[in-house]
Amino acid sequence: MNMMTTHRTIQIHNLLDTVSSKARVCRTGSGNLARIGNTIGSTSQLHRAQRFERIAERCQRRLGSAETALQELRDAQVSWGNLADSEESLAKFYEDNGKPYGSTDTYHYRARMYRRVVQALQIQIDTGVSVCSCCFKPFGSGQCTLGEAA
Ligand SMILES: [Zn+2]
Repeated sequence: MNMMTTHRTIQIHNLLDTVSSKARVCRTGSGNLARIGNTIGSTSQLHRAQRFERIAERCQRRLGSAETALQELRDAQVSWGNLADSEESLAKFYEDNGKPYGSTDTYHYRARMYRRVVQALQIQIDTGVSVCSCCFKPFGSGQCTLGEAA
């Protein structure tokens, strides 16, 4: 999962701005030097521009994949939220209609569990760290037996 914190995203945006601007300056300089016949200077500035452009491309790719990862988490939140809603709807239906299958506790239990997954995903969106939906601690931190099974 290619997640980034908001802080990291801003840093990469700033880097992208900086290197894009440097690339433009070098490209302009290269053109100016070529016009006055300074071939060596022009080539040197062109190479600098290309180096900055490569960094800018990497920044853009990184931001693009982070955006995709974020969207996947948001989609997952919607799916788990829908599951919770359907459990609650079923519980309400049975409660309103005389509970043909006995207690609706298990529906409410599952709904709560699914809402905790939505919450865990929100923590991952906010911090970039994936956490367990039972204890909200990072996986692999040794705090949670569910994390070890994952
Ligand atoms: Zn846990």
